[in-house]
Amino acid sequence: MSEWQFRIAVKRAGPLLRCNFLMYSAFIFVFFTKSANNLDKTFSCPNSLFTVLSQIIFSFLNKVIEQYDKELSMPISKFFILLIIFIFNFVIPVNTSYATSVNDTIPNNILMYHRFDEIKYPSTNIRKEQLVSHLTYLKDQGFKFILVKDLLYRDKLQEKSISITIDDAYLSFYEVGLPVFEKFEVPVTLFLNTENIGGQNYMTWGQLKDALNRGVDIQNHTHSHSSLPTLNELEIANEIEKSQKLILENLGITPNLFAYPFGENSSTAQNVVSQYFDAAFGQHSGAFSINQKYFIPRFPLNENYGSIDRIKDASSVLPFNNVDIQPSNPYQIEPITRYVLDFQEDASNINCFISDFQGSFNQTTTNLSSKLLIELNRIPVKGRLRFNCTKVNNGIFWFGYQYLIN
Ligand SMILES: [Zn+2]
Repeated sequence: MSEWQFRIAVKRAGPLLRCNFLMYSAFIFVFFTKSANNLDKTFSCPNSLFTVLSQIIFSFLNKVIEQYDKELSMPISKFFILLIIFIFNFVIPVNTSYATSVNDTIPNNILMYHRFDEIKYPSTNIRKEQLVSHLTYLKDQGFKFILVKDLLYRDKLQEKSISITIDDAYLSFYEVGLPVFEKFEVPVTLFLNTENIGGQNYMTWGQLKDALNRGVDIQNHTHSHSSLPTLNELEIANEIEKSQKLILENLGITPNLFAYPFGENSSTAQNVVSQYFDAAFGQHSGAFSINQKYFIPRFPLNENYGSIDRIKDASSVLPFNNVDIQPSNPYQIEPITRYVLDFQEDASNINCFISDFQGSFNQTTTNLSSKLLIELNRIPVKGRLRFNCTKVNNGIFWFGYQYLIN
């Protein structure tokens, strides 16, 4: 390590750090003297133990210093001081930056609904009384209701919150859902696919304008509601541009958030979407985390998965700090059986539940410190392949991911 590097370190350390260093040194010196004097008294030493000890230490240090002064181009005393300042310079800022990352101890999750009181479609419908029970529970538990756009742009909230999103702009949202949300004073985000507007069982532009005026945040969900992995880049861009244009013409707004139709996407789709929007949402369960900004999980609620227990889990689970999953492309043309998840923390207590349309997998999992190497016991079938990994440690941590197998 050269002298200029130390000089830079001293400069970077700044006066506060240099003073801290002096204070720590003084503290250690005083503490050491005090305990040494006590030892002198306890053992009734004729000479001060501290004096003897310090003589030994200083004579040893002098020897070392003499030797190193010859070998180094600068005095060893200066070397030591600079070395300590250099170390402090790195240790102290690192500690303070950790102190501010209280992030992942407060849940800030996202729920997703489609239809309201349309009992013909139980997999996308929620009954009105279920919705009322969800909102009552969340209010009683003290959750703050915020729009997803506020969740994204606020640097990790310091209070537990919940964000509600609705996909597709069905008429039942306008007629059944919206009045309930208004009664509970819950702000909601509607992801809109423009081609169906004015069609049977869909809202009209007039109703959308009214919803917008009543505080509904309206965002983009493509034009034709096609599954994006089957489209090429140009086709995806056309979907986005067409719908953005219609929304601007009819509502006078330009959405900056996007939800993938069916939650299905690919690396290509994410790339194109990222050129138009600030973030994009899937339809897979998982605690909200900003780490995968173009594939954010949302908890789907419907008649089958709409119990209070489901709401309890969905609203309370916490995100892992960061998870890297390989392969990272959510679209697989050839189904893959080997996966690597890096949790960037000890992964020995993390369990992954993996399933596709055929059911759950009996996978073989190997734990290598922060990584889980997963080998599926069969080839996943066409359709959605879901990963749900959880850890229990002062709360439940939940990482979710969804692949689409061609
Ligand atoms: Zn949709």
